[in-house]
Amino acid sequence: MSLRVSDQNCEPRHISPLRDSFQRPMQDLRISVIDRCNFRCTYCMPEENYGEHYSFLSKNDWLTFGEIVRLTKLFVQLGVSKVRLTGGEPLLRPNLNQLIQHLGQLAGIHDLALTTNGAFLSGQAKELFESGLCRLTVSLDTLDEEIFQRMNGARGTVQHVLDGITKATSAGFRNIKINAVIQKNVNDGKLIDLVTYARQAGHILRFIEYMDVGNCNHWKSTAVVPSKTILDLISSRYPLIPIKPNYYGEVAERYHFQDGQGEIGFISSVSQPFCGTCTRLRLSTDGKLYTCLFATSGTDLRTPLRDGATDTELIDIIAKVWHKRNDKYSENRYLFQALTSKPTKIEMYQIGG
Ligand code: SAM
Ligand code: SF4
Ligand code: SF4
Repeated sequence: MSLRVSDQNCEPRHISPLRDSFQRPMQDLRISVIDRCNFRCTYCMPEENYGEHYSFLSKNDWLTFGEIVRLTKLFVQLGVSKVRLTGGEPLLRPNLNQLIQHLGQLAGIHDLALTTNGAFLSGQAKELFESGLCRLTVSLDTLDEEIFQRMNGARGTVQHVLDGITKATSAGFRNIKINAVIQKNVNDGKLIDLVTYARQAGHILRFIEYMDVGNCNHWKSTAVVPSKTILDLISSRYPLIPIKPNYYGEVAERYHFQDGQGEIGFISSVSQPFCGTCTRLRLSTDGKLYTCLFATSGTDLRTPLRDGATDTELIDIIAKVWHKRNDKYSENRYLFQALTSKPTKIEMYQIGG
């Protein structure tokens, strides 16, 4: 068994991070390692827009592992201490464990996590753990096979995902998080099943409000099930006690079950936006830097990187972007319910969740 190199890095550390125009520190980096996905979730990559002839990035467009590691080192110098690998479906990126090994050895990263749809987890869980991945989040919106198929474009099965989670637990992952996006009249009727499963299996379930990411999921505010509605429903079956955030900028509101059997969380980006403490930046598969999930444009880092820019020059570009960052899309959505202009946004699968 290979050494879990990241063990010594999965610890908090203290440096003075770069602050944006609202004094928000740079802290969490999300790296999309691939723009392709084996699922076609209706709320993210609907089949009608991403059919078999859709042209995704070519391999030459992808940042190489060397480029990702080099940029990550620079982000760490500016304040980043948490890194999450995402996509598209990150487990489709060949040899991902090699990237994890390299990132796990970077001083200054105390949390290296990955979000996956779980379809390939069974076959990769052991390798991911042994490469030094600290934490795992698996997306699973329902345990109902028919609803699951309807939500993901009839790709993969619930059982595949559950098997993947079981394998991940056997491989050594602890406190696995399960992300569930809830849509009204789609999967809101089966919430308690998911809660019961997660409690019994010892996983941390987090409900994510359905968001208006990208340009093609036909989002309507009436399709959002507010966290409060879900909280009330769960509390009537399993009483809950609120608990404090783990760290500054944590997006989930956390609760313990009163009977002591585990934890649950709510990410309420629509009903209770948290832009005021948003510490996240996102690197797309082709090396563009985005400072908001709802951004309309990014800053190209790949071109200067491939043109021979020095570390100082790259840091200068990144620092300028963060200094002038003034994103607060979700707060504006909340304040001005129907946004009057409809700008073309980046798609979620291009920059990850
Ligand atoms: N493919 C991986 C997965 O699904 O876990 C990683 C990428 S996916 C874009 C990351 C997260 O974004 C998932 O948990 C997914 O449920 C969430 N997501 C995608 N579209 C969303 C939407 N419209 N509203 C809320 N969450 C969304
Ligand atoms: Fe793929 Fe994840 Fe988007 Fe679903 S949410 S289509 S699994 S990238
Ligand atoms: Fe952060 Fe943008 Fe989401 Fe606000 S809308 S919390 S700024 S990513």
